[in-house]
Amino acid sequence: MIKCSLKKEIMNTIRNRVLAGMRPTGRLHLGNYLGAAKGMLALQDDPDFDTLFTVVDIHATTTPYDQKTLKASARDVFIDYLSVGLDPEKSAITIQSDLSDLITQLSFYLSSVMSVARMQHLPTFKEKVKQHPDNVTMALLNYPLLMAADILIYKASKVPVGIDQEPHLEIAREVARKMNERFGTDFPEPTRFATVGEYVPSLLGGGKMSKSVEGSSIELDDNLDTIISKLKKAPTDSGRGNKVPVEGGVANLLQFVKLFEGEDSRKHYEILYTSSGIRYGDLKKQLAEAIFAELKPIQEKRVELEKNPEYIDKMIALGAKKSRAIAEKTVEEVKKKMGLG
Ligand code: ADP
Repeated sequence: MIKCSLKKEIMNTIRNRVLAGMRPTGRLHLGNYLGAAKGMLALQDDPDFDTLFTVVDIHATTTPYDQKTLKASARDVFIDYLSVGLDPEKSAITIQSDLSDLITQLSFYLSSVMSVARMQHLPTFKEKVKQHPDNVTMALLNYPLLMAADILIYKASKVPVGIDQEPHLEIAREVARKMNERFGTDFPEPTRFATVGEYVPSLLGGGKMSKSVEGSSIELDDNLDTIISKLKKAPTDSGRGNKVPVEGGVANLLQFVKLFEGEDSRKHYEILYTSSGIRYGDLKKQLAEAIFAELKPIQEKRVELEKNPEYIDKMIALGAKKSRAIAEKTVEEVKKKMGLG
């Protein structure tokens, strides 16, 4: 009994905060779901954490985008968040630009401790430069500092994101450290909360599943037929060999089997590969069904939510109100410490 109430007391005093966000650059896919949303859900249900989630629409402006559709896309991702099970009563869920005054402001202050060279050498920046050579802007260079501001404005210490975000988290830690050293702030150094799906491969056989790579992804709102036809295109081999491939199309398919049908099913196919052979038609059909079984309730919830736009508006406003209270405090503190307040 005593132990129990003590734990409760500790939990009430040490509030670890969680922050995670996704860009509204298209509908969410399995990579976003497994690499990020699953971790967000796990932490939302963990009594040791206060959870804050955001749709990072300002981040979307750092690469070419359509300003006519951005607002609707951000709202779409907000509804996706609720559809996968994020709960606006339990968590504070925002659209980033509702706090643009505070977040962009903090991002600018944070930029005072980071060198241009450090930002230019980031692998994620170099990749984006290759992808969009005509759009190498200051906003793009600043992307990781905007992300650091998203996290540090709530003094969050845990960040449920995919493994591709690790270089950005390293920047967030560095910024926190440097701000604390230079100005005496008390930012925690945030670490990544990893899920089993921290790296979801592309359907094309190489690289990660991504919104920006055509044909690489299965979207959360794909129906069974779409999933079947997308999986049909995934590259395979003869289905038999001495050694199960560890990379490429077959390895990726087996990774999907593990994620949606479990480790035993994957082992079963591995044994088949080195004995009688895998029939990929069967594997893909079964896998498509397993994926759809997980997506169906999410899609049904989305249909329900879309019937009630007033509720969505209310929840967006609620998230902004809850988050603003924390964010304002941090920005005031930082301004004072920097001699600006
Ligand atoms: P995308 O890369 O598709 O444009 P975002 O950059 O908006 O998606 O990422 C949103 C979240 O989804 C981040 O936490 C990111 O790490 C995660 N994520 C994106 N793609 C994958 C993937 N293929 N595997 C695991 N996590 C991913």
